[in-house]
Amino acid sequence: MGNYNYFYRCIGCGRELDAPYSVCPFCGGPVIIEYPEPRFRVDKSRPGIWRYGSLLPGFGETVSHGEGLTPISSVDGVLVKNEKKNSTGTYADRASAVIASYAKSTGVRLIKTEYIEAFTQSLLYYLKGMAKVRVLVRSLDSLSMDDIVRIYGMNNVDVTTKDTSIGDEARINYLNPLTIEGLKTIVFELYERRVRAENIVVPLETGVLAYSLVKGLDDLRKAGAEPGYTVVAAVVKGASVPEIVMRLGVKVAEIEAEEVLDALGRLTRKGFVTMPISAVSFAVARILGSSVAVLTMGYKPYRLYTGRGQLREEIIELLREKGRMTAYEMWKERQSYTLRAFYKVLRGMEVRGEVCSEVEARGARKVKYFRLCKNP
Ligand SMILES: [Zn+2]
Repeated sequence: MGNYNYFYRCIGCGRELDAPYSVCPFCGGPVIIEYPEPRFRVDKSRPGIWRYGSLLPGFGETVSHGEGLTPISSVDGVLVKNEKKNSTGTYADRASAVIASYAKSTGVRLIKTEYIEAFTQSLLYYLKGMAKVRVLVRSLDSLSMDDIVRIYGMNNVDVTTKDTSIGDEARINYLNPLTIEGLKTIVFELYERRVRAENIVVPLETGVLAYSLVKGLDDLRKAGAEPGYTVVAAVVKGASVPEIVMRLGVKVAEIEAEEVLDALGRLTRKGFVTMPISAVSFAVARILGSSVAVLTMGYKPYRLYTGRGQLREEIIELLREKGRMTAYEMWKERQSYTLRAFYKVLRGMEVRGEVCSEVEARGARKVKYFRLCKNP
């Protein structure tokens, strides 16, 4: 589904590299993916970020959990791109889809990753059943209750403060060329939908998101498109600006903390519950005008999925992806459950109005198709 003609390159020293390093092993510079023959084609038959496969790295395997194509709405006159609508409730799902595709294709069995809240939680979700993940935490204090539920509720994950190598693990940190490729799809979506705005405003944080969007615009231009947006990284006055942002010349806009609190109020009252760090982009977009604010994440309470609860989630995922399926077709895709379990869980979901069904004749047989109800 991706573009197989790509390579890894350090933008510090210009060297071509053989793997998606977090930073260049020669000079410590940022590493990106380049496409010698960039083309921008949208495969409208694909629901998520892989519809932009012509400008994403091709790995042989493609992992998707319905990330991408997040809605845009107007809040107090500001266009808001709501990244909460991704699978685990954060923009990081876009990165996780690309990283998981890479991991699945290379068949790596152990992945080590430094702990960064939403990113780690998203990555664990995407790597479920694929590889064992070792999460490096700096200290016990850095784990929130939410993290504990999410991380320790999963099999195949261990958490450690010791960064020792056992030799055959892949190390995937937040900053790496795969993350950049995943996150840049936000601008592809704005461009595909011809959203009219001058600026795309994102929270500055580590600078990775801002830089990823700049890279996405660059890729579009190299493919002959004229997206015409400027990426603005929003930050609270007085915070430090990461080196990557200064180095790559990303535009930065500062804002008073009071304005961010005001933005939080406006967003929350309109039903957009988000972190202060995410509201910063809304506050800046309001002042700049003609802007789309990217709300990077929302509040999505996490439930510990076990047994039937887990199967229900997987059914929703499958139907989101495929539109409609029979119980048998679902079971063929998820054989870790029994066919009987599918029938049981689907019956409950139908009673609760979560799935709707239709019966069709196939020869002499009747076949029951399930789909997600329009307004659950
Ligand atoms: Zn280098």
